Amino acid sequence: MNGVYHLKLHNYSIATKNLVPGIKSYKEKTIKIKNDEYRIWDPFRSKLAAAIMKKLEPMPIKKKASVLYLGASTGTTVSHISDIVGIEGRIFAVEHSSRVAREFINRVAANRLNIIPIIEDARKPQNYFSICEKIDVVYADIAQQNQTTITINNCKMYLKNNGYLLLVIKTKSIDVTKKYQEVADNEIKKLKLFSIIQKIDLYPYDKDHFIVLAQFLQ
Ligand code: SAM
Repeated sequence: MNGVYHLKLHNYSIATKNLVPGIKSYKEKTIKIKNDEYRIWDPFRSKLAAAIMKKLEPMPIKKKASVLYLGASTGTTVSHISDIVGIEGRIFAVEHSSRVAREFINRVAANRLNIIPIIEDARKPQNYFSICEKIDVVYADIAQQNQTTITINNCKMYLKNNGYLLLVIKTKSIDVTKKYQEVADNEIKKLKLFSIIQKIDLYPYDKDHFIVLAQFLQ
């Protein structure tokens, strides 16, 4: 897969080629093959890695892509996306907690020139209008009850026609009274402006979580 390397190690693993060799973003394992350094991408720590292990197809995040990432947290997944899109790609990484964002900037964004950290509330996409541009992929993982609506509003503002959405659905954050499959299906019904390509249950890597891959039809 473009920018994602499948390695035969002790356990079957995926990895990305480190954009900044010698610098780790968290406590990830690294491996040297010839002159390149690869960062092992743990599907138990990153939902995008879990989706790839569960046959995400197509992988919309490619070399040179621009990505709007909602819910950057401390940057585990963002760092691997940064490896994949490379120096000609861009990640606009939105995180509203200033404490978490500070850790993200110090550990990850400060070392990687393709990441633009945005300390903002994803519920107010107009607040980053002067920073963010039209982009290829929206990745949303903010684990909020109304996150699908928040994500759609971001897509309307920033996602290109035919661009891709990767939406993480943490069903427990949305409704604990319904079956997790039903909660996910109700969220997917809200994506009326999109063509749904894939719905991936992230079990066994994450319980009660899905990733939905969809294409924007605006
Ligand atoms: N995607 C991350 C990863 O794979 O490394 C994990 C994201 S974590 C589940 C959710 C993050 O979304 C938290 O860091 C939280 O502070 C952030 N968040 C929640 N609501 C937000 C909002 N309205 N705007 C921006 N960030 C938000």
